[in-house]
Amino acid sequence: MIVRHGPPSGAMRRWVALLVFSSLAASSASPAVSAQISQPDIIQEHWYHSYATLTLDVNAWEDEYPEIVKLLVVGQTEMGRNLWMLQISDWSQENRPDGAAKEVVYIDGGHHGNEHLGTELAFLVAEHYIEGWADGDQTVLDVLATTELHILIMLNADGNDFDTRWNINQVDLNRNYDHYWNTCPTTQPGSAAFSESETLANSEYMNEVVPHADLYITMHTGVWIMLYPWGKWPEQPSDWEMYHSIRDEVNSNISEIPIRNANQGLYPNCGTSRDYGYGVMGFPTFTFETDDEQFLLGSVEAISDRLGEELDVMEYLIENVWYWRARLHVSSLDVGPGDSVTLSVDNLGHASTQNASLHYETSEGEVLWHSDVRFAVNASNSTTVTFDASNLTLADGGGFFLHYQKRVIDSSMWVREEVPAEIVTTKAQSDSIGFFSGNIGLVFLFAVVLLSGIAAWLGREESGANGDSVDPGFESILHIGDDGRIFDTKASIHDLFHRPSFHEPVVDGVRAIAVLWVLLFHAWFFQNPKWTNGHMIPLYESVFENPMFLWLVQGGLGVDMFFVISGFLIGAIILKEINRSDGMNMRRFYARRFLRLVPVYVVAMMAAIFFLDGSNAENAWANLLYVNNFLSIDDQFMGWCWSLAIEEQFYLVAPLFLLLMRKSESFLQWSVALMALGWMLRIFSLEYHDLPTLWDFRDLGSEAWIGRFDHTYDNFYTRYGGLLIGVIAAWIHVNRKAEVEEYFNSRKLAPLLISSCALLVFLFATFLEQRHLADSSYYVQLSWYAIEKDLFGGSLAVLIMCALHSKDSIAGALRGILSSRILYPIAQLSYSAYLMHEMVMIWLFPISSEFFIGAMGVAPNVVFVVNSIVSILLTLISAAILYVTIERPCMRFRKHPFMSRIDGTAKVIGDSKPKRRAPAGVIEAEVVTS
Ligand SMILES: [Zn+2]
Repeated sequence: MIVRHGPPSGAMRRWVALLVFSSLAASSASPAVSAQISQPDIIQEHWYHSYATLTLDVNAWEDEYPEIVKLLVVGQTEMGRNLWMLQISDWSQENRPDGAAKEVVYIDGGHHGNEHLGTELAFLVAEHYIEGWADGDQTVLDVLATTELHILIMLNADGNDFDTRWNINQVDLNRNYDHYWNTCPTTQPGSAAFSESETLANSEYMNEVVPHADLYITMHTGVWIMLYPWGKWPEQPSDWEMYHSIRDEVNSNISEIPIRNANQGLYPNCGTSRDYGYGVMGFPTFTFETDDEQFLLGSVEAISDRLGEELDVMEYLIENVWYWRARLHVSSLDVGPGDSVTLSVDNLGHASTQNASLHYETSEGEVLWHSDVRFAVNASNSTTVTFDASNLTLADGGGFFLHYQKRVIDSSMWVREEVPAEIVTTKAQSDSIGFFSGNIGLVFLFAVVLLSGIAAWLGREESGANGDSVDPGFESILHIGDDGRIFDTKASIHDLFHRPSFHEPVVDGVRAIAVLWVLLFHAWFFQNPKWTNGHMIPLYESVFENPMFLWLVQGGLGVDMFFVISGFLIGAIILKEINRSDGMNMRRFYARRFLRLVPVYVVAMMAAIFFLDGSNAENAWANLLYVNNFLSIDDQFMGWCWSLAIEEQFYLVAPLFLLLMRKSESFLQWSVALMALGWMLRIFSLEYHDLPTLWDFRDLGSEAWIGRFDHTYDNFYTRYGGLLIGVIAAWIHVNRKAEVEEYFNSRKLAPLLISSCALLVFLFATFLEQRHLADSSYYVQLSWYAIEKDLFGGSLAVLIMCALHSKDSIAGALRGILSSRILYPIAQLSYSAYLMHEMVMIWLFPISSEFFIGAMGVAPNVVFVVNSIVSILLTLISAAILYVTIERPCMRFRKHPFMSRIDGTAKVIGDSKPKRRAPAGVIEAEVVTS
């Protein structure tokens, strides 16, 4: 086994100097062959090369094109014939025009002496680039300016002379390499690995001169096929992604030549140069087998035409050699705040890499710090990783370096690439922010304890003073625990499973479906490589392409479902109160909203500080004020809670709108005008910020993606459509109940409306996605964007109204499904589950993916499914804990006599209790918002 070492340039120069000398000696010492140098091209084109004619041709090239051709002798055959090596590149340029080292391609032919057509293909590749350069072919000039071609056309010159497969020792040279040598049923592998001078010379050249090659092709003749590793094993190689992408590209654009793993495509074989090139050298390797119609000599077709298609494939592989490795390109590197370093990299290459790490080194290469974890970046993919940097100190003259392997295979070469200093940003570390984010949980906890202490104290005074005036039956009627306690765990658990009579089952059903949809959507979405430590999961990717899974991609519509039911419930409460008293008790309304939403939110925030590792916690004030959606999504604390802010903003606007409209006959006209205003605002927002009309998850994190999120996705003025639709439905439900029942039961156009709305909702869930509009005109895309969510929300609202008011059998079925008992506890948990789910996923997925895929080697798809199930279970369990300990007690507290002080109804408690009781049919206001 030959040990490869360090930067090749020094070794290469010595080697080249040695070989140039020997090649001069060799070519000047062959007067016999130079006499035949005038052999005409037209004859050569119809005959295969012998060692003698090859010697003439390669020497002629060197003489004629010294600017691009170097000819070396890199060893001898067992009978002492020269192994001619052509090095072809534009030697006037030492490096690529951008200063980087040139790409290196290694090609050999003629392992088997009687496989002439394969040998000719190696010759034709050399000829194509030499003559193309002489003709000024721009593509060829570009390749030679950036790439070195190293081509050994005829390895087995002795066998060629005898027209036999073997070399002179009757050894099959392509079984003589030191990679699982002689471990397969094989013929004539030699007495030991590299026992033959030809293979030994070839391997020495690979190790000494071209160890950094990013392509190795070995040419043979037999079955028309291209083979990639392994020959030894039937399994796909570690870099299967790269091989499959090459296969797919070649097969769809260039040639239908079969491209397969060698073991399966041909037969098991060991000790081949292909498996050695990949398994020991780490090159991307192919055996290129031309077909075996080589024995029809004298055909009039020129060999270059005969092998035209094969040559096209070779050109493709050579022109794209830049892609046959991982190429990490750092898009950002943020040092701090706190003791962390966050790195975002794009892999521009078509091969994946694992085990990458980030180092901080002095210019002398002394490592001052290195990342605690290794990361992977899949081919053509991106990843963002955050490292612990508590022992990193930036020093003068220090710099960041990426260390990674060019490909996944263990043997592939390591590279060390400097991160350009201008990309590195250092976030100033402010002690006060550090303290605040580190202790924000304690601040919250203290505030909550203080507030509940005050509340308890005031409440005791209240019940003490007015105890006698409270009706003895009052507390039990109002569902304060059986023994009157706020914290009654048994009662809370009971409430989780038992629907009270005033709850509308249909609405519970919609709410449960909405939260399940969002949970499943995010369980998929957050297994993007960004949150799996760079591990690519085939199932994650396939969801984009597979129509059966499109409903997952569409899960964001679950939030629109929440908006519709929220608008409906809140609208119904306000409208009923207005109808009843011609006014509204705003204090009572907001006090109830506060108790319903805020305490559990605050507790979830404290959990989030742990789960999100303090990320953006300094902006938690915006969540508490319900203005977090005004921050960029990159800066939001608990980024999924933008929808809660929208709902809260709606609670400010909705009562005003409905109070203003209470006397108006034209409520519906005004509402439709507001809908249309929303469409215009959306178009305006897109145009004003110059944002793309189509939005694709796969651009996640890009500037356009963040722009779309910040300016259109999480703003009240671009998202109020669903809430308004809910309010309209509530107005019809409350004020036009008789008409709507008559309509739904009239059987005139109702069935048509219902079935088209059902179809639309179904299509939205399974098909109607923006990507389908990629080929449509800009105005179609813009219009669709303006109305799509309203179309969905409107259809959903019609279905809800139908389920509530129709006696028809479709409505009956719908009502039956939505009223299912299983959905009730899920609906009850929906608010807490929404609060908890993303933090659980963002915390769990990187850890479990790294452990199971990275360390244990479990199949990524299996990890994907397990991650999804576990994260949803953890979410529901944590939601149940919050429900029993916080949500339910707070709702009981809303019935506590203390609340009457807040809402100013204290005096009526004793003598006017029916006013406090929910009239039959009122939909309870426990709006669980997304
Ligand atoms: Zn062969």
